[in-house]
Amino acid sequence: MAEIAFRHVTKRYGDTLAVDDASFTVEDNEFFCFFGPPLSGKSTILRLILGLETPDSGEILIGGRPVNKVSPAGRNVAMVFQNLALFPHMTARENVCFPLVERKVAHAEIDRRLADVSAKLHIGHILHKPPAQLSGGERQRVAIARALVRDPAAYLMDDPISALDARLREETRVELKRIQRDLGKTLIYVTHDQEEAMSVADRMAILDNGAIRQVGAPSEIYDSPASVYVARLLGSPVMNILAGRHTEAGLEAAHGAIRLPAGSVPAGTAEIGIRPENLKVEPWGEGKAGRPAKVFEVEPLGGYTVVTLDAGQSRLRALMRGQPDIRPEAEVALFCDPGRIHCFAQGGGALAR
Ligand code: ADP
Ligand code: MG
Repeated sequence: MAEIAFRHVTKRYGDTLAVDDASFTVEDNEFFCFFGPPLSGKSTILRLILGLETPDSGEILIGGRPVNKVSPAGRNVAMVFQNLALFPHMTARENVCFPLVERKVAHAEIDRRLADVSAKLHIGHILHKPPAQLSGGERQRVAIARALVRDPAAYLMDDPISALDARLREETRVELKRIQRDLGKTLIYVTHDQEEAMSVADRMAILDNGAIRQVGAPSEIYDSPASVYVARLLGSPVMNILAGRHTEAGLEAAHGAIRLPAGSVPAGTAEIGIRPENLKVEPWGEGKAGRPAKVFEVEPLGGYTVVTLDAGQSRLRALMRGQPDIRPEAEVALFCDPGRIHCFAQGGGALAR
């Protein structure tokens, strides 16, 4: 049982509130991500779980057992090295076995765990090589094997692949996701990259200045963000957020470019949010039902195109499939399904539709 829970945990460094009344439960065998901007408290949460820091208040539980007074060695959770760097003078085998040799684990047990982890990570055929003779992907797998060989109840990773180039990062995160599933172990993972968090997590917690703003599956949070803050952290391009003006006919935003019929939005709506993929753009034409806007710039990205538009004083972004024939300065018609609009109250909290 490696369920890990915080109950109203607070941690301060002097005047800095690093973790602010945080409560969450990471389920056994879950791939759980902490996601937030730099300095939002992600690393402090991992250090509290490891026992390298003590909370000022609140309770930490591992497998249902309160561990506030348990030393790091007694918690059976393992941190994976931040940069996944290997020792260059050791072979892959020596690198993987290092944490066990350091702990003076018996030879037979080391052999058993090495066989187990190298089968899971498909590195048996490269164990005799030094890191310099391994490809980037092989090096990553050896480094992960070294972390896994200790066989703790849960693994913690603090931004483990942020130093890699973009292509290797994409490959490695898929490997990690697969490894976690194959191992069936709790993995708590920190990242400041929203795409990475969404791609790997079973569930994630969104942090803001030490406070947890929302916990859920990536798709749940993406579809139903609890606030403007959360809405803007997930998704690329970022969600369009527009001030709403209530009129007799309904709600207007972007100087009339977006109009929602009366009764289709809650009375307390102060701002609305529209994901770029939900904003439809068509060439302007007589008799078109859409509202007018002007194309500011077009970014063709191959499989899709980002169109930036001006409507009144508002700048909006639309994401379109393929490479539509739309040029800068063109007059276009905007459409948006009212059912796809997010409504937020004054202060940024989401309103139920
Ligand atoms: P993240 O990992 O999300 O970047 P951290 O958990 O490292 O955030 O930091 C959260 C806050 O706590 C920041 O304001 C940071 O400056 C502060 N902090 C973290 N560690 C220490 C420390 N050892 N001493 C003083 N302040 C710290
Ligand atoms: Mg950090």
